[in-house]
Amino acid sequence: YAGKTGNQLLAERLRKMKVSDYKARPVVIREASSVYDAITTLFLEDVGTLYVVNEEGLLAGVVSRKDLLRAALGGKRLEDLPVGVIMTRMPNIITVTPEDSLYDAAKKLIDYEVDSLPVVVEVKEKGPRALEVVGRITKTTITRAFVELGQTDR
Ligand code: ADP
Repeated sequence: YAGKTGNQLLAERLRKMKVSDYKARPVVIREASSVYDAITTLFLEDVGTLYVVNEEGLLAGVVSRKDLLRAALGGKRLEDLPVGVIMTRMPNIITVTPEDSLYDAAKKLIDYEVDSLPVVVEVKEKGPRALEVVGRITKTTITRAFVELGQTDR
């Protein structure tokens, strides 16, 4: 540890924390699912954001609590309104990969002002925009890691 400041040590430790070690299970729905079903899933799965996939199971978009609230105020029949219509759509989705550091994920959450990032891997055969969802990183993930960093008994 010769010559390293406390800050350098902490920064090193932070950058060694990988998305793959902290990611949670993604909660996914189909693009054709109704807003009604999306709201039900949000409650049943106890999450704030759902990832939306197309018929091939590839990432198509993201739907957040506020997206669903806005849709609910829209006055349309929620059973007949597909989430594909109200979601934030690819290619405007901010993602991370399993190899990224948790620090980079936290920075994206702050920089882009979102609560959740899909963890994705490229499906190379299907092109550069073909992403499979393998996890999720949320503000809760980061808070849990922060608490872990503060523990002195390890
Ligand atoms: P909420 O809308 O419940 O406050 P967010 O702050 O995460 O939740 O979402 C804000 C907006 O950004 C929503 O319209 C949502 O669809 C979109 N969004 C959420 N996560 C992402 C993401 N990872 N990439 C791009 N857009 C996102």
